[in-house]
Amino acid sequence: MHLDTQRDPDGGWYDRDIRLVDKEENVIEDFGKDPTLDELREAEHRHRKRINLWQQGLVCYECGNQINDRFAARPDGQILCWECAKSENSREQGGLIINTDPTKSVLSESKLHEKSLCDYVINVATGCRHGCKFCYVPSTPAIDNRDEMLAKHADVDDPQRDWGSYLLYRDDLPERVHEGLQETDFSDWKTTRRGRGVVMLSSGTDCYQDRRAAQITRGCVQELTEHGIPVRILTRSPNVTRDIDLFQKAGNKIAVGCSIPTFDTALVKAMEPNAPPPQARWEALDKLFQAGVPRFVSFSPTYPTMDRDDIREALSWFAAIDPTVVFHEPMNPRGANFQMCLEAAQEAGYVDMAEELFKIREEDKWVEYALDHIELVQDVAGQFENLTIHTWPDRKLLQETSGERYRELRKMKKEVSPETFESDPF
Ligand code: SF4
Ligand SMILES: [Zn+2]
Repeated sequence: MHLDTQRDPDGGWYDRDIRLVDKEENVIEDFGKDPTLDELREAEHRHRKRINLWQQGLVCYECGNQINDRFAARPDGQILCWECAKSENSREQGGLIINTDPTKSVLSESKLHEKSLCDYVINVATGCRHGCKFCYVPSTPAIDNRDEMLAKHADVDDPQRDWGSYLLYRDDLPERVHEGLQETDFSDWKTTRRGRGVVMLSSGTDCYQDRRAAQITRGCVQELTEHGIPVRILTRSPNVTRDIDLFQKAGNKIAVGCSIPTFDTALVKAMEPNAPPPQARWEALDKLFQAGVPRFVSFSPTYPTMDRDDIREALSWFAAIDPTVVFHEPMNPRGANFQMCLEAAQEAGYVDMAEELFKIREEDKWVEYALDHIELVQDVAGQFENLTIHTWPDRKLLQETSGERYRELRKMKKEVSPETFESDPF
């Protein structure tokens, strides 16, 4: 399946009718002139096939140059060549500043093998519309070192404060992943004991946060899994279920998970202002369960106000979708984002939560709460036959403990998650 370009004999060089044809050149769909990127990506989704958009006769909507290399889309979906994309100003859409991400990198090595998540990461965008208050991403170099780029491309004054209000897509990632994989020597592929060569989408944004991000994600996942590369997907968006067909085809090369820190919808609304409610995420996991897709939950971060009953309730929801693993991590008060959590709790009228968060700013109180939650979650999970908890204890907690407790935490830290990833090339 590929695109076929019919030049309009009475039109200019860039007047082209774009059609989708099969191997025998039978027309499957006629897009007419200037199909949007959204139309083309949705056709990929409909026909369950990747269409590589390079060298297919598509032209830039602004300048008419042929799309043979990097490209992006305007907010209305019209395709732009890289030159026009780079000069395109940001636009505002529903309170969100959106634009194209000029980043060159495709696949980045990641330290998330320390959490037994992956060895590589692909971020389908810079920024995230969900704007979670506890999000650590804006304090990482991926955002922190890019003030200039964000000021230029998204009018961002303070990338940390403005987190959640800007989103820069990487539309041509599937094509770039495809090209990169042609040249990959898999004997050099990083495969740590805990990361297992897995590529994760995404650690710095939500890869299913909207249709455009989901389209980029689908293309990347398809390219990776067709090359036998194991993939982990982590999202807060029920949109993820649109790709169940792809996940089923990938079999054990994939694990798909949702972050659900709590089922308290009002609290989630305060802390993750633009993210879908927790119940919708659970329903997405349930659909993955029914479809037989390997799945996991990220129970992170657990709030200090959560007691044994709250934890038991959350874990019983998780047990119902029979996950391979539940990753757990307590809240971490380090970083500028913690102050934002505190303010969000206060503004939403969560007085108890604000007090608890205030308390754990002191290190000894945080250690006490974090150790308590780690133990509590492990203990309650023991009451469910099908729940395995993989805990992410902070390094600092190991420094603060000794004896048996220290040994337990150390063991947790070194553990490999119980998932079995099938990986062909390495
Ligand atoms: S969904 Fe993930 S990346 Fe996006 S703001 Fe929330 S924690 Fe950060
Ligand atoms: Zn152009």
